[in-house]
Amino acid sequence: MIFYRLGLIGYPISASVSPQIHSTALKEAGLGGEYKLYPIAPDDEQGLKDLLERVRMGEIHGLNVTIPHKQNVIPLVDELSETATTIGAVNTIVLRNGKLIGDNTDAPGFWNDLQELLRPDRFSKPARSALILGSGGAARAIVYALLNAGWNVTLATRKADIPQAQELIADFTSQNAAFAEKLSNTELSTTSLSPLLPTLSLIVNATPVGMKSHHAGTPWPEDLPFPENAALYDLIYTPAETQLMKDAAKTNLPTRNGLGMLIGQALLSFEIWTGKKVSAEKIILTSEK
Ligand code: NAP
Repeated sequence: MIFYRLGLIGYPISASVSPQIHSTALKEAGLGGEYKLYPIAPDDEQGLKDLLERVRMGEIHGLNVTIPHKQNVIPLVDELSETATTIGAVNTIVLRNGKLIGDNTDAPGFWNDLQELLRPDRFSKPARSALILGSGGAARAIVYALLNAGWNVTLATRKADIPQAQELIADFTSQNAAFAEKLSNTELSTTSLSPLLPTLSLIVNATPVGMKSHHAGTPWPEDLPFPENAALYDLIYTPAETQLMKDAAKTNLPTRNGLGMLIGQALLSFEIWTGKKVSAEKIILTSEK
């Protein structure tokens, strides 16, 4: 029987909950194995190459990749999935038929969890139009998931981040010209967002504003009302309820944090490595108990 050697590359990663998720998944699937942390400093290219070589040799069966290496591993793998190509980031590495494959499970992890927020018994509006706050790595996965489902997506960023948003749009439209009419960007300000409010069915926070360890506060402009009949998904999961979620809930918006996406992307990676499906309900993190 295989003893699965799995792990996570990133830096810093000591606070990661991934070992907890994957240890539970191994147990639930009745598999032997371990999930180790591999902290690799941002400029340690050789360290990254050496670790990927261990996957190629079959010594390690699967790796997750997080900040700052999601792009750095791209030239080191043999093939990228279509999802990883369009998003421009890899979060899962596996050896298949002797080839190192880079995949990305963040987008389907988000999409599957979003269905909980948009359940028809909680949310009656036909949802087709989303506003994404931020245009960094996580925003790319969200945009991919929504565009593939036929949604219209507007990126809202600080003025200084407009070039970053425009680069995202250029990358996506060069992969698929049909995305051009579905994807736009604007400034994260009351003046720019007010006219959009009646069209919106979903707001996604893909900025770190509101995280316990980073920034208190909310990315939503102070004097901007929330749209009516919309829902809010915050990618942050610590704290479990951000200030943005609290503010949106006060105006009756259904809200959901990013824990389901975190667990969802992990279990999809687990399935890629082991072929086993584990139900998200089986994963209860210690801090949630
Ligand atoms: P990132 O690549 O650093 O991107 C963050 C984005 O937010 C950038 O566009 C950034 O602009 C913008 N931003 C930062 N501070 C801001 C502010 N005060 N006002 C407006 N915009 C601001 O980070 P990421 O990897 O995309 O992660 C974003 C968030 O998603 C984090 O909280 C992360 O923990 C969470 N996340 C959750 C999951 C999950 O599974 N639930 C997965 C991935 C990420 P600048 O580039 O100018 O700073």
